[in-house]
Amino acid sequence: MSTLKAVRGTRDLLPPETVLWNRVEATARAVFARYNFGEIRTPVFEDTALFARGVGEETDIVSKEMYTWEDRARAQSEKPQSLTLRPENTAGVVRAYIEHGLGESGQLQKLYYIGPQFRRERPQKGRYRQFAQIGAEVIGPPSSGSESPLRDAEVLEMLATLLDELGITGWTLHLNSVGSAADLARYDVARRAALVPVVGQLCADCQRRAVTNPLRVLDCKVPADQPIIETLPVIADSLDEASQTHFAAVTAALDAAGVPYTLNPRLVRGLDYYTRTTFEFTHDGLGAQNALLGGGRYDGLSEALGGPRAPGIGFAIGEDRLVLTLLAQESAPPQVDAYIAPLGETLNTAALVLARELRHKGLWIELGDGSFRLKKSFEAAEKTARRIVILGEDELQSGILTVKTFSTGLQTKVPRAELGVFLSEPASK
Ligand code: AMP
Repeated sequence: MSTLKAVRGTRDLLPPETVLWNRVEATARAVFARYNFGEIRTPVFEDTALFARGVGEETDIVSKEMYTWEDRARAQSEKPQSLTLRPENTAGVVRAYIEHGLGESGQLQKLYYIGPQFRRERPQKGRYRQFAQIGAEVIGPPSSGSESPLRDAEVLEMLATLLDELGITGWTLHLNSVGSAADLARYDVARRAALVPVVGQLCADCQRRAVTNPLRVLDCKVPADQPIIETLPVIADSLDEASQTHFAAVTAALDAAGVPYTLNPRLVRGLDYYTRTTFEFTHDGLGAQNALLGGGRYDGLSEALGGPRAPGIGFAIGEDRLVLTLLAQESAPPQVDAYIAPLGETLNTAALVLARELRHKGLWIELGDGSFRLKKSFEAAEKTARRIVILGEDELQSGILTVKTFSTGLQTKVPRAELGVFLSEPASK
């Protein structure tokens, strides 16, 4: 029988890496709370029509990458329903916004989510078929201020704060405006006209996109197509005055808040619903898949899904890529505060009691085993912990424990009552 493995493009997350995942999520929750965002959890699968309408039929995601199946009908009279594992979460959040009438309160809705998404992409480092996104949406009726450029700037400033608090250095914010639906229509005309003389030189995918959705030609990653794409007009030339004013207000607010950004007039994102402000944060340490997160405004999405007018702006962070960046930045894996080594099996129970005492004080403790020889205990301890605490008969009787700090090589005698404080101190002391 062949051995079973995790499916291509999926992976198990194991300790110690999961420590980083938890830290990333805890930091995100804490930052979002300070900006008054509440958590939303939507189902992992939805009606396929939601993504076809909400993400766009012509996008790579919908046309090639979704996990879609026909669910068995409950009764013979019923048609089987087409269901899809969510490839992204914005469509689900906006569906929930409409379904629960969240706009009826007149309040701006600020919602965040953390969870798995599924796309049948070609797996490589930083690109998986199941991956996690941390995202947020700000959405509401126009009277709630949801259209204001202040919201765009606040979301971007929050992202800069989150990356800074996570300790991610060296990110770049790429910023663009893809304009309103009317600007896009004007741009579409200009772009189609510019494509006519060059379309024959582009890749097969672009030749199809040139007819069905010319904006998507800008997503093309085929190197040979890039020099031709460079010559095409950019959306910035087609923005009307209102879109220009909106974008200028966003950049002015970012300048005032001290959030650095790079204008990138060719930035279009792989989802059809974006309007006006679009953005991406990249990190050079990530290699080919260098986008840490992406997002933008989607003023017409709620209406496209059959809901009321509800402008909004949101983003999705690739959590896998955040963790990859942190792993590359971190010099050493996180370490246990202390490893307790009982000298002989008769001391196992006393060691368990000592471990309990220290764990109750909030320390991170690994418990050894009295059947180990001292050398083996030291080897095990040095792999996981910053310090080793030796518990022999003498130590138990006297209440003075022997502690070795690996980074300095120092051996110290510490009274049991002071052990908690001693072990909490950084190991370099
Ligand atoms: P998108 O939903 O396509 O705007 O993507 C937002 C972010 O999710 C990207 O910037 C990536 O960081 C992350 N992401 C998208 N697709 C994948 C994938 N297949 N594997 C890992 N991360 C991904």
